[in-house]
Amino acid sequence: MSEVQSPRRHRVVIVGSGFGGLFAAKELKRADAEVTVISRTAYHLFQPLLYQVATGVLSAGEVAPATREVLARQKNTRVLLGDVTAVDIERRVVTSRVAQRVTETPYDSLIVTAGSGQSYFGNEGFALYAPGMKSIDDALELRARIFGAFEMAELSSDPEEVRRLTTFVIVGAGATGVEMAGQIAELAHRTLRRDFRNIDPARSRILLLDGAPRILPAFREKTAEKAAARLKKIGVEIRTGAMVADMDGTSVTVRHEDGSVERVEASFKMWAAGVAASPLARMLGELAGADVDKAGRVAVNDDLTLPGHPEIFIVGDMAQLDLPGVAQVAIQGGKYAARTVKARLKGKELGKPFHYFDKGNLATVSRFSAVAEIGKLNFSGFIGWALWLGVHLVYLTGFKNRVTTLVHWTVSFVGRGRSERVITEQQEIGRVALAVLGAERDRLPGISATTPAAGGDAPDPEVRPVR
Ligand SMILES: Cc1cc2nc3c(=O)[nH]c(=O)nc-3n(C[C@H](O)[C@H](O)[C@H](O)COP(=O)(O)OP(=O)(O)OC[C@H]3O[C@@H](n4cnc5c(N)ncnc54)[C@H](O)[C@@H]3O)c2cc1C
Repeated sequence: MSEVQSPRRHRVVIVGSGFGGLFAAKELKRADAEVTVISRTAYHLFQPLLYQVATGVLSAGEVAPATREVLARQKNTRVLLGDVTAVDIERRVVTSRVAQRVTETPYDSLIVTAGSGQSYFGNEGFALYAPGMKSIDDALELRARIFGAFEMAELSSDPEEVRRLTTFVIVGAGATGVEMAGQIAELAHRTLRRDFRNIDPARSRILLLDGAPRILPAFREKTAEKAAARLKKIGVEIRTGAMVADMDGTSVTVRHEDGSVERVEASFKMWAAGVAASPLARMLGELAGADVDKAGRVAVNDDLTLPGHPEIFIVGDMAQLDLPGVAQVAIQGGKYAARTVKARLKGKELGKPFHYFDKGNLATVSRFSAVAEIGKLNFSGFIGWALWLGVHLVYLTGFKNRVTTLVHWTVSFVGRGRSERVITEQQEIGRVALAVLGAERDRLPGISATTPAAGGDAPDPEVRPVR
C-alpha cells in the first residue's frame, strides 16, 4: 500500500530580526510557507531609540521586545537564536551557532537582513575607550559610563580630575551623535542638577566632534544649522573639521582642519562616526561573485536579489543601493522581498523593481526640540519634536511598549526624572571583559540565557519543519 505524500511547503529563512527581518516575516504571515527567522539576538531592536536607553529615559525592554513574542501568533513562523556563520548557496543551507551548538537550516528562499556594525575606520583600538551604539549592550555600557562618570567625579577632590570625568566627547555628528550630545546636555543641566553635593553637573563639558564641515550631513544645510544653534544653546560645543587622531583612557587627541593638534582630557568617549555592513554581505558577495563596496555592502539586482541567485534577497543596511542606511529602507525592502516570495508561490513574479518611498528624516536635539524634513518641508523646534514623537510611537513594536514609553517620556520631558538610572559593574566592564576572554567565553558554564548550549553539544541535525 503506498502512502500519499503531501508536497513539502516552501521554506523561507530570514536572517536577522531587525527592521528588514521583522517586516519581511510579518508580510509572510498568511503565506503558504514555513518561515524561520534566525537572529543572533532574541529581540527586535528599535535602534533609533537606543540613545534613550543610554541616557536613562527608557528601559532595554521598551526598545527591544522578544521577537518570538512579537511573532507568537504567526503560526507559520518560528524564531531561532543563532549567529549565522555560513551560507551554502549551492546546497541552500544556512549554518548558525550559539556557543558550541551548530544548527543547519535549509531554505528555498533566503532573505538576509543582518544590518551593519560600527566602523572605527581601521582604528579598532579606539573601541576599548569609545563604545559605539549599535546594540542593547552598547547602550547599557554607555549608560553605566555616563552616570558612573558623575559618581566618580563626586568622590574626587582634584578639580582637574573632576573636569576630566565630566567632559563627554561624542565622535560623529550624524543623528545618533547629535541625539546623544543633546541628551547628555539635558542630563547635566536639568536632570542631575540637584543630585550632587561636591560637583556641579551643569559645569560639564559636552563636545561633539566630526571630520565633516557640518553636523547632520543627511539633512539639508538649513536644517542642520537650526539643530546646531539649539545644541549650542543647551551647552554643547560643536567642533567640525575635527578628526580624532588618537585616544586613551583619559584623553582624545584631535587634529583640526588647520593642522593644529589638540589634546582633550576626557574619560568618557563615544563613537558614532561610521558603519560597516555585516560581514555576511562580503561573504555572500564573494560566493556569488558580486561587487562589495568600501562599506562592506553587497551589490544587488533591482529586485534586491543577489546576482545569479534569484532565491536570495539582501535587504536593508547590507545592500548596496544608492539610499541612506535608515530603517525605512530596510522595512520597505523586507516587505518587498516577502511580497516577491508570495507572488512566486502563486507562480507569478512581482514584475516591478524595488522602489523606495522616502518618508522623511527626523532627529531630536533636546526636550521639545527636533528637526524634521518631509519632502520639501522643514520643521524644527516643538513642531519637529511632536512629529518625531508621533512617528516613533507608531513604529515602536507592541501596544504595551507604546504605553510604558509614553509614561517614561512624560517623566523625563515634562518632569525632570529618568526612570532608568540603574548602572552595574557588568554593564560597564562586560564588553571589554568578554573581549579579553575571547573564545574562552564559550567554555563558561551557563553564562547566560542567550547562550543556552554553552558546554558543547554535538551539532544539531537538520532543523525540522514547522507544524
Ligand atoms: C543608534 C542608531 C540610531 C538610528 N537612528 C535611526 C533613525 O532615527 N531613523 C532611521 O530611519 N534609522 C536609524 N538608524 C538606522 C536603522 O536602525 C538601520 O538602518 C536599520 O536598523 C537597518 O535595518 P536592517 O534590518 O538592515 O538591520 P538591523 O535592524 O540592524 O537588524 C539586523 C539584525 O540582524 C541580526 N544579525 C546580525 N548579524 C547576524 C548574524 N551573523 N547572524 C544572525 N543574525 C545577525 C541582528 O541581531 C539584528 O537582529 C539608527 C541606527 C542606530 C545604530
